[in-house]
Amino acid sequence: MTREPLLGVPGLRPELLLDGAWRAAAATFAVGNPATGERIADVADAGLAEVDLAVAAAAAALPGWAATPGWQRYRVLADGARLLAERVEAIARVMSLETGKPIAESVGEMRNTVRFLEWYSHEAARLPGEYWPGVAPGRDAYVVKEPVGVVAAITPWNFPGFMVACKVGAALAAGCAVVLKPAEQTPLTALAIAAALHDAGLPAGVLGVLTTSDPATVGTALVTHPDVACVTFTGSTAVGERLLALAAPAIKRVLLELGGNAPVVVLDDAVLDDAVAQVVRARYLNAGQACVAANRVYVQRGIAEAFTERFVAAVRALRPGDPFEAGTDLGPLIELAAVERLERQVATATEQGARLATGGARLGENAVSAWLEPAVLVAEGRAQPAVLAEEFFGPVASVVVFDTEDEGVALANDTRYGLAAYVFAGTADRGLAVARRIRSGSVGVNGALVSEPALPFGGMGESGLGRERGRAGIEEFLETKTIQVAARG
Ligand code: NAD
Repeated sequence: MTREPLLGVPGLRPELLLDGAWRAAAATFAVGNPATGERIADVADAGLAEVDLAVAAAAAALPGWAATPGWQRYRVLADGARLLAERVEAIARVMSLETGKPIAESVGEMRNTVRFLEWYSHEAARLPGEYWPGVAPGRDAYVVKEPVGVVAAITPWNFPGFMVACKVGAALAAGCAVVLKPAEQTPLTALAIAAALHDAGLPAGVLGVLTTSDPATVGTALVTHPDVACVTFTGSTAVGERLLALAAPAIKRVLLELGGNAPVVVLDDAVLDDAVAQVVRARYLNAGQACVAANRVYVQRGIAEAFTERFVAAVRALRPGDPFEAGTDLGPLIELAAVERLERQVATATEQGARLATGGARLGENAVSAWLEPAVLVAEGRAQPAVLAEEFFGPVASVVVFDTEDEGVALANDTRYGLAAYVFAGTADRGLAVARRIRSGSVGVNGALVSEPALPFGGMGESGLGRERGRAGIEEFLETKTIQVAARG
């Protein structure tokens, strides 16, 4: 029996992908629309039994997939990317429904999802080893790469498509089998991507998807499952720390992409209008719900007044609105708890001496979420408010003035995080010199960061472990084995 595709996305079903088949679970949970408060769909609610089924299927599928020649893995992944490309508009619509992000941003994210999957498909065919003839007297050696095993992938809601491509694409290319647990707020985008790979002929069990309303129980069971060799997680630092501890007893491979609190250093010779436009982009994209978002803006005194004036004016011009309306810059936040957290952080910042120069009001509240009017905090005193040490995960920037370049660098580095940073300077040389001094996995000089498959991405300090994307991103899913062969007599 053929069924109408859910929400107009070919292949999408509100079920679990288990051992190559779509299966219902004993229970379902509702996915809500943050822009309207309405229920979008009910999806299968996986529990412990389904964790066992998914991992068992992945473990059974692993040897076959690992032994599949790279060019054949390329074929399946490339076919999946092609199907996904045909479904971009439909999946983007679902993404906007479940996240509230403006439709143009969802389309852009889905195009990137396809692009990264395509890139990983090619990498699957390029995993060479090394041969060392005569490495020692009477010895030849091989250095070979092998898939690390079954991978548990846990993804967040803020980039629900792109994060799946980064993890699942790389792990499948490396020859691993994957059990994916998407965020409970955004299961549909992940299911739609898995459907494209499934429809492209990915062998049964190589990819399983467990949607669940109970991430702690299902996530813990997945990470501690004896047949899971590797954990790749993107999300908050608090959950990342917990998962690292859970994986420790079995010394599992752990890749963590965690929170950020990105600084921006605007030097006094920066091109003002460029800096303003780029910082607005780097802060307010996705309603500020991005790990690389430009949270803390440090401006050198000589241009501080002019920068702040133009920055505040540019932020006031941003239009919160209906995610499906052209011209909307910001959708609602993911959920009311996120709105409340930001409101508390803004209140604390003002208690600690910052001035709310614009925004901060709650708009269009419904049962799931609300918009937060884009806000700018300006710290006029010499000491920055202590609360700026926290990640503000929403449309709130803070501006702090500094005098010397050394002071700007010290303020930027005064954080436990180290994911992204930005430098604006009159010359690329000056910007590069400051970028080299900032402790961060990625630094944008005179521009916001863009996502390119070739460029490794990840955090220093409490922002994470390991790197995604680029060659480094595939290496995370490979073991290196050295085989020495002694010559016979
Ligand atoms: P979160 O940690 O609450 O959730 C992320 C994922 O972990 C979701 O799938 C969730 O269901 C799951 N999860 C929650 N509790 C769990 C538990 N106890 N055990 C196992 N899994 C669990 O994060 P969030 O607040 O939804 O996402 C925002 C955070 O993610 C921010 O801190 C942001 O900076 C970070 N982030 C980082 C990157 C990066 O690449 N470094 C990218 C995007 C988001």
